[in-house]
Amino acid sequence: MNNAPSEGPDPAEIRSRLIHWYDAHCRDLPWRRTRDPYAVLVSEIMLQQTRVDTALPYYLRFLQRFPSACHLAAAPEEEVLRLWQGLGYYRRARQLHQAARVLVERYGGRVPPDFEAVRSLPGVGDYTAGAVCSIAFDLPVPAVDGNAQRVLARLFGVDEPADRAAGRRRLDELARRLVQGPRPGALNQAVMELGSTVCTPRRPRCDRCPLAGLCVAGRSGQPEAWPVRQRAVRWAEEDVVVVGCLRGDQVAVIRRPEGGLLGGLWALPYALRQEGETWVQARDRLGAVLAAELGGSLRWYPDTLQGRWDFSHRRWHWRLYLAWSGGDRTPAGGAGSGAAAPPHGAGLPGPAGRVAETPGPWDSGAVRWVGLGHLDGLPMASLDRRLLEQAMQVLAKLPQRQVPGLRGQVPRVPEQVPGQRSRPEPLPGRGRTGPGGAREGAGAAGQE
Ligand code: SF4
Repeated sequence: MNNAPSEGPDPAEIRSRLIHWYDAHCRDLPWRRTRDPYAVLVSEIMLQQTRVDTALPYYLRFLQRFPSACHLAAAPEEEVLRLWQGLGYYRRARQLHQAARVLVERYGGRVPPDFEAVRSLPGVGDYTAGAVCSIAFDLPVPAVDGNAQRVLARLFGVDEPADRAAGRRRLDELARRLVQGPRPGALNQAVMELGSTVCTPRRPRCDRCPLAGLCVAGRSGQPEAWPVRQRAVRWAEEDVVVVGCLRGDQVAVIRRPEGGLLGGLWALPYALRQEGETWVQARDRLGAVLAAELGGSLRWYPDTLQGRWDFSHRRWHWRLYLAWSGGDRTPAGGAGSGAAAPPHGAGLPGPAGRVAETPGPWDSGAVRWVGLGHLDGLPMASLDRRLLEQAMQVLAKLPQRQVPGLRGQVPRVPEQVPGQRSRPEPLPGRGRTGPGGAREGAGAAGQE
């Protein structure tokens, strides 16, 4: 295998074939119909770690609501998060929001045609800056995402692992060389499109590839041997106890701390199970904090829901316990009744009180009540919507007398936005509580 660009396939020939192929075969996607740098920036941020078909409806809704950096900069963060809800990796939304504010403050709301200036925006790395500058301004800068890495590693037969610094540098160098020619934006998109549709991780279709005959991996007959990988992804496995605590037709929620996992989003109260602690002990530890916080005592419903949720580098094995609060503490922020709707960006559920000690990762949060019918206004992660949905399904099957305080029909938890990336799967309806006694739930994938 040969790594030296001077001895590899001719860049001019590669460029020519790729651009011709792209012009004839590229998918018609809304962000390809514009060269508005702000729209390109939004699309590139959304497409980070997210599939095209998932991002598409979000992109259209987002641009409809925020057609320019000025519109986005003027919006409250709660509204931005709400529009992002279900797309995952919520830090992207916050950083895009901050980037819009920087664009307004420094560049009059416009994206400057300058790689370093774009690269300095919050949440923008080399890839995104390269994509925006090449696509919107035709600057000859590379944009190397995972698809491009795969294509380049195969095309040039790069032996250095793509997940090590030396390998990445090598691929960046090849991409930089390749993009020095006409239509750099089209060239970058062609490489990524090829990786997405032809040069796929498994079973690349070399017989339909415009680079067939030039490509080192294709000629080898074993294209899947590239890119070389050094290490497998390591999962952090965590046991998490979650409490769905009801009072009448309200549920207790907390806001996850900024900067942490799913930071800033609302969630059911939860805590990590500690070493040596049983599930029930972890539940009771969390329950004691909640009871003190909410006033009165908690009554536990005997069944447990459980399952698994995969983030990008973390796996949660969760158990959800349902409880009823006898507490009568009135929220201070005005959401004392279940009818108190929190319209987006305003009127969020009022605090029920401060958490006196740290039960879990929501160390600085306050427990708040929100009406079950009014969860739409809260930015929540897919995981927490899924948990609420499961809890509501259990409640709906119970005789009314077993659901103290819940008036009338059990409210429906607002559904996730269609097209999101997470893949919730059916969970077991009920299991026994306690370690070793409950059935294992099916998994679902989510994002950090
Ligand atoms: S020839 Fe095969 S391995 Fe090489 S770039 Fe094309 S699809 Fe990928």
